[in-house]
Amino acid sequence: MSIGGQVYFRCDGTERAMKKSDFDELERLKAVQSLNLLDQPEEERFHRITRLARQHFRAGICAVTLIDKERAFYVAQEGLKNRDGGERQKTPCNKVVMEKSPFVVADLSKEARSSLYRGLVDRLDLHFYAGVPLLSQDGHAVGAFCIMDHKPRRFSRRDLESLADFAALVEDQMTLFRTNRTQRELISQLERLRVRAFIDPLTNVWNRGAIFDLLGRELERARRTGNHLSICLLDLDHFKSVNDEFGHQSGDKVLTEFCRRLRDNVRSYDSIGRYGGEEFLVVFPETDASKALSQAERMRRSISKQDFQLSDGTEKTITVSIGVATFDGEEDIKALIERADKALYRAKNEGRNRTVADS
Ligand code: GH3
Ligand code: MG
Ligand code: MG
Repeated sequence: MSIGGQVYFRCDGTERAMKKSDFDELERLKAVQSLNLLDQPEEERFHRITRLARQHFRAGICAVTLIDKERAFYVAQEGLKNRDGGERQKTPCNKVVMEKSPFVVADLSKEARSSLYRGLVDRLDLHFYAGVPLLSQDGHAVGAFCIMDHKPRRFSRRDLESLADFAALVEDQMTLFRTNRTQRELISQLERLRVRAFIDPLTNVWNRGAIFDLLGRELERARRTGNHLSICLLDLDHFKSVNDEFGHQSGDKVLTEFCRRLRDNVRSYDSIGRYGGEEFLVVFPETDASKALSQAERMRRSISKQDFQLSDGTEKTITVSIGVATFDGEEDIKALIERADKALYRAKNEGRNRTVADS
């Protein structure tokens, strides 16, 4: 397919020569679409201009019209009932767009063309029309800025210049609207990237850096306020054997499901992070030792009570060992984690699938 070369293939595979005007219309429609103004909520920025123009010209109707593939659409209008401009061929705005030049008619009802616009003339009791093209940044006539009236009028050269000035304001707003949108999209993309930098992609919990950061802040807060703070370290039992017997993919599936269950069994203000390969750190703010122990037990039971489904459909019992430690009010992160690690080590030694608190 070579649109520029004026030959293209249709959906049915046949080839046909493409007239330059077809190509231009295709590009023009793309320009209309990319404004992102069709069928969107009304924007005050355009209304402000139609309001001012209607007052300036003391006209019955003023509109910012876009000419879409088949229809005319009012981005903003004063003096009309709705935003649907009807079939494009039957609107004078379409003529403005197709000829890319102003169009002024003192009395539409007397115009030879009026048969084309008959519906519009009758429906709106329309006589006068003056419109100038609205150009996209790359020069396509995307629509028209127009005023219309219920009585015949004269329109001077100066009036036409004013109308063109209003149209230029609309074009500026169209550009600004697009720029703002692009900026908003970039910002939200940046936000997503920023979040992604702190999330472990396999398990969707905080990564090691993020959970350390979070714990650091909670520790400082607990030190300042005197509130309790507990943590627990979790290590999957005999996890290597899952990989060895069922493959790495099954191992990954277990890790993902493991974290899903953890998330379901902590409170919204607790935080879960991946501490290492199959080791996780959970931070319980404002939680004393006994509450932390029961929270940890709840997590442990959520893992062992229901078998995990592996990649090949096999069901396997998975268990976890947990070490709990509660902030003593003075120690640093390293000391607190060391105590949780010591408790975890005991849980492993005492037979796994259990929770031990460092006391
Ligand atoms: P223990 O009960 O003593 O903790 O035994 P274990 O087998 O769980 O401990 P070990 O430290 O020997 O093995 C941990 C295994 O976890 C080895 C490593 O390949 C696996 N592992 C770490 N990260 C991942 C991962 O992202 N995906 C998969 N599938 N396996 C992982
Ligand atoms: Mg381990
Ligand atoms: Mg392990």
